[in-house]
Amino acid sequence: MKAWVLEEYNSPLILKDVDDPVCGDDDVIVKTVGAGVCGTDLKIYHGYLDWVTKLPHIQGHEISGIVKEVGKNVKTLKPGDQGIVYHYIPCRDCEFCRTGRENICEHIKRAGFELNGGFAEYISIPAYNFCKTNIDYPLTHLSVLPDAIATSYHSIKTLANLKVSDKMLIIGLGGLGLHGVQIGKMIGAEVGGIDLRPESLRVAKELGADFVLDASDENMVEKILDWSGGLGADVIIDGVGIAGTFSTALKYLKRGGRLV
Ligand SMILES: [Zn+2]
Ligand SMILES: [Zn+2]
Repeated sequence: MKAWVLEEYNSPLILKDVDDPVCGDDDVIVKTVGAGVCGTDLKIYHGYLDWVTKLPHIQGHEISGIVKEVGKNVKTLKPGDQGIVYHYIPCRDCEFCRTGRENICEHIKRAGFELNGGFAEYISIPAYNFCKTNIDYPLTHLSVLPDAIATSYHSIKTLANLKVSDKMLIIGLGGLGLHGVQIGKMIGAEVGGIDLRPESLRVAKELGADFVLDASDENMVEKILDWSGGLGADVIIDGVGIAGTFSTALKYLKRGGRLV
């Protein structure tokens, strides 16, 4: 098959022929349809995660595709099924896996990190890791669902427990932040966002943000307090996560609010 291969950090990926993946008894071979480029892919590309990723390596952990082949023990999927790949491959046996925290499995392996990923024609993954979809939406676009969208969703819905009419302020309007804006509006919250990039503020507004502000504005704290009725935001999602954003956020977090 053809794959984009990272042979050397900081060097362009090379499109070349590599061995086809082998389908184990509990695995499926997926023909890749969509493969998102995550911020973490840039870290891998630059070699910042060289203790995880061994070269040569096929990147890509946001994958959608069509099942091409199933292993002999696989009863739940069949060739032709469409869906997305859950790229965390847990052992399903350690304490963390057995208590519903597969993402911190002691023996975790991830497609596009420790294992080869989706910048290739085909990928082999356990059938457990293929989530069938049947919605009328381009399969290519669904590739980012398990990573760039699920991360925002988990923060906003599960951790921050955002509710209808809450005011949520998102710090950082990159990919995750912009998905967060849309998730917040779908939940029925009032959504604000700050960023240094005018383009990000413009797109956030286009996607439904009620309030956007340049993060370098010297009256930022006062303006956010004004927007939130003087009490502060019910929910703050800090997508930047440095000491400065955290300490400033405490100045416009509502009493009893949730900061993630
Ligand atoms: Zn990612
Ligand atoms: Zn485990």
